[in-house]
Amino acid sequence: MGIQRKTSTIGLLLDQFKKSNQAIAAVELVDRLKEKVNKTTVYRALERLEDDGLVHSFLDRDGIKRYAICQDCNKDSHVHDHPHFQCTNCGKVDCLEEASVNIPKISGRTIHKTDVLLQGICETCSV
Ligand SMILES: [Zn+2]
Ligand SMILES: [Zn+2]
Ligand SMILES: [Zn+2]
Repeated sequence: MGIQRKTSTIGLLLDQFKKSNQAIAAVELVDRLKEKVNKTTVYRALERLEDDGLVHSFLDRDGIKRYAICQDCNKDSHVHDHPHFQCTNCGKVDCLEEASVNIPKISGRTIHKTDVLLQGICETCSV
C-alpha cells in the first residue's frame, strides 16, 4: 500500500463517479467499497451527496437504484429534466444531458423530478 490519503466515504464515492460518467448502482458502490466502508455508511453517504446536489438517483429497468453525478446542481437547485439511457446489450446506464424531457405543467401540482429511462443500443454496442 502506498501513502494512505485521508479520504472520507464521500471522497471515495466521488472518486468512483469521476472514473466514468456512467450511473452506478448503489449495490455496486457498496461492493466496490466493502473493504473500507460498511454498507450503512455507504447508503448514508449517498443520501448526503444527493441532498447536497452532488449526485442524483433513479431506478433502472430492473428497478435497481442507481446514482449519477450532477453537473450543475447545488443544495437548493437540484432539478433534472434529462432522461437516462440503458443499453439493453451491455447494460450500461448513463445520463443523456443533451436531451430534455418536457415536464408538463399541471395546475395544483408541483413537479420536482422526472424519471425517464430510454432503452436501446449504446454507441459501443452498435459498432
Ligand atoms: Zn442534481
Ligand atoms: Zn452497450
Ligand atoms: Zn442523470
